Amino acid sequence: MEILSNYSLKNYNTFGIDVVCKTFVSLQSQHEASDYVKNKLDRTLPYILIGEGSNLLFTKDFEGTTIQMQNKGFELIDENNKFVWIRAAAGEKWDDFVSWSVEKKYAGAENLSKIPGNVGAAPIQNIGAYGVEIAEIFNGLEAIEIETGKHRRFYLKELKFGYRNSIFKQTLKNKYIITAVMLKLNKFPFLKIDYGNIKSELETMAYENLNIAIIRQAIINIRSSKLPEPKELGNAGSFFKNPVVDKQKHSNLKKSFPDLVAYDLNNGFFKLAAGWMIDHAGLKGYSKGNVAIHKNQALIIVNQGGASGQEILEFSEEIQSKILEMFGVKLEREVSVI
Ligand SMILES: Cc1cc2nc3c(=O)[nH]c(=O)nc-3n(C[C@H](O)[C@H](O)[C@H](O)COP(=O)(O)OP(=O)(O)OC[C@H]3O[C@@H](n4cnc5c(N)ncnc54)[C@H](O)[C@@H]3O)c2cc1C
Repeated sequence: MEILSNYSLKNYNTFGIDVVCKTFVSLQSQHEASDYVKNKLDRTLPYILIGEGSNLLFTKDFEGTTIQMQNKGFELIDENNKFVWIRAAAGEKWDDFVSWSVEKKYAGAENLSKIPGNVGAAPIQNIGAYGVEIAEIFNGLEAIEIETGKHRRFYLKELKFGYRNSIFKQTLKNKYIITAVMLKLNKFPFLKIDYGNIKSELETMAYENLNIAIIRQAIINIRSSKLPEPKELGNAGSFFKNPVVDKQKHSNLKKSFPDLVAYDLNNGFFKLAAGWMIDHAGLKGYSKGNVAIHKNQALIIVNQGGASGQEILEFSEEIQSKILEMFGVKLEREVSVI
């Protein structure tokens, strides 16, 4: 366990915002996490959990404690003739887990390649990409209750996974330190290549037999070519969620915007492509001060260098109000503001 005072979080958030927290604590094990919250956490001050800070926007110095799990390891905990169950430590990088599982030929996580962040944060917003969400391979998680220091397991149903959502973004927000995630992977892969431009990327690659390692490489290629690298251009991936509207609203919008990009959820609701809306409003590449909408990715807000978190927040609010004015739809943030 390491406890540091007045610690800069500049390298702990992918927007690269230079803020300081009063105390920074790194924990190496579940036992340390329990010990820390029972005996050392200053409960008079606020606290936050942090992974890699790839889904956070700091708007000011944090006058409290920032807690980071740094435990490591992937462990096979069970298997049968079809599946394996893996326990991944919260402090591991998510993409290291994907790389490890693909090397072992355990299938299911490959479409989630190259998503930044740590394993412990992955279930919080039910990370998803290229037609797969962690919910599909999630088996359970282990956590320490911050109030009591008690160990607890959560299973799939309890997570209440939704689109970029789980119970840990709702009623259990900031109540637990997630210390490990259990994932159920397949020994016999079911390859998912219908989403986005996976197929066209595969056509450009030389390979003999399609397998999960090839799919992982295709996804890495696509993501590397279209997403800004946070180390070069600070960002937190998609800043907004794709809004969900009812049938009536969708058909009204379709009359005014015949090209509207929407996905039928087959339950009376439609998911609208927020990126299309921002682009259609002429905001792709729009820039103000040190902040901009990425020139190729309308859902990504970038720190062009030296932006403050407050500046990014105000910029995002301007985008929200322009979209509301044009489409009558409120964009909800995917990124958590602190
Ligand atoms: C370039 C880029 C591309 C991205 N692409 C995608 C994508 O394709 N799909 C997608 O879903 N997301 C994407 N994201 C968002 C981000 O990578 C994910 O949300 C990721 O899971 C965040 O992990 P993190 O470790 O950085 O968490 P942080 O940003 O540090 O924290 C996120 C939330 O998790 C909580 N938290 C963190 N660790 C713990 C813990 N151990 N216990 C309890 N709570 C914890 C935090 O308090 C916070 O509420 C992208 C981000 C970037 C920068």
